Amino acid sequence: MSKTINDVVCPYCGCLCDDIGLVMEENKIKDTINSCKISHTKFCDYMKSEERITEPMIKENGEFEPVSLEEAVEKAADILSDSDSPLLYGWSSTTCESQETGVALSELLGGVLDNTSSVCHDPSILAEQGVGVSTCTLGQVKNRADLIIYWGCNPAHAHPRHLSRYSFYPRGFFTRSGERDRNLVVVDIRKTDTAKIADKFVQVNPNQDYELLNAVRTYLKGGDLPEKVAGVPAEDIKELAEIMKESKFGVVFFGLGLTMSDGKLTNIDNAISLVRDLNDHTKFTIMPMRGHFNVAGANKVSCWETRFPYAVDFARGYPRYSPGENSVVDMLSNKEADAAMIVASDPAANLPGPALEHLREIPSITIDPHMTPTAELSEIYIPSAISGIEAEGTAYRMDGVPIKLKKIMDPPEGIMTDEKILEMVKEKTKGKK
Ligand code: SF4
Repeated sequence: MSKTINDVVCPYCGCLCDDIGLVMEENKIKDTINSCKISHTKFCDYMKSEERITEPMIKENGEFEPVSLEEAVEKAADILSDSDSPLLYGWSSTTCESQETGVALSELLGGVLDNTSSVCHDPSILAEQGVGVSTCTLGQVKNRADLIIYWGCNPAHAHPRHLSRYSFYPRGFFTRSGERDRNLVVVDIRKTDTAKIADKFVQVNPNQDYELLNAVRTYLKGGDLPEKVAGVPAEDIKELAEIMKESKFGVVFFGLGLTMSDGKLTNIDNAISLVRDLNDHTKFTIMPMRGHFNVAGANKVSCWETRFPYAVDFARGYPRYSPGENSVVDMLSNKEADAAMIVASDPAANLPGPALEHLREIPSITIDPHMTPTAELSEIYIPSAISGIEAEGTAYRMDGVPIKLKKIMDPPEGIMTDEKILEMVKEKTKGKK
């Protein structure tokens, strides 16, 4: 006999779709409704418990040996309290409640707290801090936007329901005919699957987004353009600028193609400035395409607890903000961290070589539902409940709207939430630090 749980929030990407239906049979997820392929796999495959490690483990002579949770927590507290400069990193795939406990633990340790935004959208954060930002919610996009621009991102693959749920296809209050009421423009270095369905595709040379943004701004201010800029003919740039000016409500969604190509934060500064210029003509907004489901929450929680969104150093007993010095890559590449705790992320899968090399050399603890490459190189691995399936809590959507994650079922016996494990480590550390 099956039953359906409705309005479940998908804990995978920054869209945080909250209309997922789960078809349950004998307390197992058998099928999903409204999900994309990624979400379906996340919900339906999580029960493959033969791959799931349910006991904490500590390395003995290079091999993991199962231990009790109390033992793992005690050893983790020892490593962290013996460290002069511990790095507490990750946080993008867990709840705000866990992140809050992580901030308190970092402060207690006098450590460095960083989250995964330091390797994806930190240029967006720095640019927003520099020039401000004209933004909106995804609800406003759905109900009002008649021009959708994806710049340096490919939601057809990375955020599969973004177009259907929030931006291009849905029927909104002022966009009653859905995609027939909207223009879709893609700016990218190659013709992606999103670009294939766009009304206009602008192919920019790699690493020349800054030049193209400048050219659009120049044209909007009445300046002349050369024959081509960044590989784009002047006629195309003028057409793009006119489409922008003529829209009633435009939005630029941008991704790592803009944040991580040459120019980095100056690209975002320029994109935000273009949007500000466009507001002399019409209503225009801009929004980063956040990846992990609660990376936006990691920035919010860090901000409301410390005033700073990431790369926060508590070594002097108060929070100091120093991106480029206290970010994960710098702390590890410069060999400044002498211990690490990684929570709800897998930096070993994407850190540059020198940083990864140092992470291998220092004692580290990983708290994660799965045995990831990062967990494999750690000294201690503590399995935790899956947020949004086995643990409830709060997460922030890419537009800054907080959404309550549901708990669908209990985790396997003995497995705690990230929040509870961090609370235990914090309590143990208090007596040692
Ligand atoms: S688009 Fe993202 S949040 Fe929405 S169902 Fe797919 S993976 Fe989940």
